[in-house]
Amino acid sequence: MNCDGLLTNLNKSQHAAVSSFADTLAILAGPGSGKTHTLTSRTAWLLAQGLQPWNVIVATFTVKAAREMKERIGKLIGNGMESKLILGTFHSISRRYLARYGHLIDIRKDFGIADSSDSLAIIKRIVKRFDFNIDPKVARSRISGRKARTSVVEEGEARKSATKSVEAEEFERCYIEYEDALKRSNLLDYDDLLLRCVDLLRKHPSCVSNVEAVLIDEFQDTNLVQFDLMRLFAAHKKRITIVGDPDQSIYGFRAAEIKNYRRMLHQYPDTVTIALEENYRSSGAILLSALNVIEQDSSRVAKSLLPTHIVGTRPVLRKLAGAHKEAEWIVTEIQRIKGLTGDLLDLNDFAVLLRSASLSRLIETALGKAGIAYRMVGGLRFYDRVEIKTILDYLRVINQPDNNDALARIINTPSRRIGESTIKSLLEEADQAKMTLWSLVLGIVQGKLSAKTQLKNPTEKNLSSFVHIILTARAKLSGPVEERMSTVELIYFVLKKIDYEEWLVEHHGDVHKARWENVQELITQATDFQDAISFGYEDETLPGIDGLEQRDDSDQLSKFLANVALASEVKKDDEEGISVAQVTISTIHAAKGLEWPVVFIPATYQGSIPHSRAEDTNEERRLLYVAMTRAKALLYMSYSLKNSQGEETTLSPFLTPPSLAPLLDQKGPSLRSSTVQSISQILRRNLPSTTSITLSSASLPSIEDDLFPKEGIENAQEKEARLNAMTGRNMTFTMGQQAPKRRR
Ligand code: ATP
Ligand code: MG
Repeated sequence: MNCDGLLTNLNKSQHAAVSSFADTLAILAGPGSGKTHTLTSRTAWLLAQGLQPWNVIVATFTVKAAREMKERIGKLIGNGMESKLILGTFHSISRRYLARYGHLIDIRKDFGIADSSDSLAIIKRIVKRFDFNIDPKVARSRISGRKARTSVVEEGEARKSATKSVEAEEFERCYIEYEDALKRSNLLDYDDLLLRCVDLLRKHPSCVSNVEAVLIDEFQDTNLVQFDLMRLFAAHKKRITIVGDPDQSIYGFRAAEIKNYRRMLHQYPDTVTIALEENYRSSGAILLSALNVIEQDSSRVAKSLLPTHIVGTRPVLRKLAGAHKEAEWIVTEIQRIKGLTGDLLDLNDFAVLLRSASLSRLIETALGKAGIAYRMVGGLRFYDRVEIKTILDYLRVINQPDNNDALARIINTPSRRIGESTIKSLLEEADQAKMTLWSLVLGIVQGKLSAKTQLKNPTEKNLSSFVHIILTARAKLSGPVEERMSTVELIYFVLKKIDYEEWLVEHHGDVHKARWENVQELITQATDFQDAISFGYEDETLPGIDGLEQRDDSDQLSKFLANVALASEVKKDDEEGISVAQVTISTIHAAKGLEWPVVFIPATYQGSIPHSRAEDTNEERRLLYVAMTRAKALLYMSYSLKNSQGEETTLSPFLTPPSLAPLLDQKGPSLRSSTVQSISQILRRNLPSTTSITLSSASLPSIEDDLFPKEGIENAQEKEARLNAMTGRNMTFTMGQQAPKRRR
């Protein structure tokens, strides 16, 4: 493969990183400096050097990032081999290993995945059953935190619990019961996927004996378990590339370890570290204000990040009377920018980034009122909608009847006149007998068990027909592969057996149509998934390792369900790029690594960011930094004098330093024809013919007018000197109207 093409879009340091022959390589650099771009190019370069894709592991942080990366690599190598890479989130890669080799550590092939709502449901049940006083959500995050830290902290925890408060004891019990419940239902939760994979690779390192290279994006947010996994993946060849930015570490609350870089240097003393110092994403003005924010953290290790774009328009900081007004203002602003820029921007170019998902409601309402399409990232997932969840629960039970919670959710949907209390009592009975709900129900129906729970006659008959549906479906999934039902056929089978459409009409009246459409959408997705598998696009099969017993890994239904459980979001129509343009609403956490031409950050008040419940102020500041650095051309921050509860607020302390003030436009956004010019330069998009800005060379407004209003500083050097004096820096800015030099 010719690798010249791979190296042309890179600056010198990126080039050095991509084609480095160092075994362990760390690329540490600021936002927008092309870390992900470099990692992607390096993956392609390694393949060009002759590595086989199935021997290369690439781990990313989100499903979306994984998909994007696969696409980018595909474009670089152009031979379709990217689909053969072991590429995905840590969770999805671990799942693949467990599906393939889990039997070596006694994990049953047909394990299911408990997503976070499943985990919560299980914990709630335990808390109720034992009448604990702990909050299930708190318990869930403590359990997860404990698992994520594994053995290292176990000791400390044990010491702590030596004092044994009632709460600690309850938590202890809850932890044990939870693990037990998962085991009985043959489920692994998100944390287990990683932990059990660590366990597998420790005991059977030969499972990864083929792995030639391991590449990891967003390294700053890996936790200890993920660090261990990285080491285990690379145990044989020790060829590792990590990219990260300590300034963007925002998952401390999930036990991510900023210390992992030091661990890396300790474990691999020959690690070559490369810095990237140029920012290719944001305008100079956005970058300057973001740097001003992050540099308030005196404990941070300074690093250089230089603009490559023009200074552009100053970020806006706007104060509004109330949260409603703020949401309306954002919508008006979106419309105004759209109006001014014509075809230069579409709605996909806009994002609203939130400190907490709960802030989205007002924004959604305002956008909805204005008829502006939007998508929610990290909101209620498609798969969590009740009508979809029911069908998925049927599939999960058919795949794995021991899944107590899924079974409990569908045993009376549609109604079989099995009341809540009966279900609860059956569950309890099963729990006490240390058996699963399924084996109890099966026993009753087959007359092998007599339940303590009283069942009236129609109930028993209904139960029996339910069991019959599950057993029939299961039978259709066994036998010779070519005779097995496909996932899509299975969905149709379930829909028919439970008269689902009719049931939706009966139970959801007016909205049944929308719900039925969602069910149709699920079928489309299952069809696509099936095609992807059969055409090899979603080929997740790991390479075979000689001497390790391998099992048939071709179970379509399990793969589909795992894909569902690990998808962080699913958009209806976005995949093929044929989507309607939509504004993105996302949490800041979920926006990591991404970029948009126009970014809004509402609710920048004390209590929201930094969040009132946050323990680590520096992490909150890093969050704001991550949010600000997502913007390419326009950045809007805003806060309301009163929050949505009507309480008075004050501006976030991160935005109050006097040195920041001249960099922000606090009077109100000055959208002018020069703004359109600057956007087109930064985005390197041509000015649309539809905008009616007349540009003569004499009247061509200088981009920096925004920063030096009415002062008439014509000389670029003078401007630069002024800007540097103002910000206390010594930078070279791209000034004036000529396009910045491209490094392509
Ligand atoms: P983050 O820390 O936010 O994840 P990053 O360092 O991973 O950022 P990328 O997303 O890889 O940065 O790159 C930011 C933008 O800069 C992308 O649009 C990318 O295509 C562009 N870019 C990266 N390197 C170059 C380059 N050498 N020339 C031109 N554009 C580049
Ligand atoms: Mg990145």
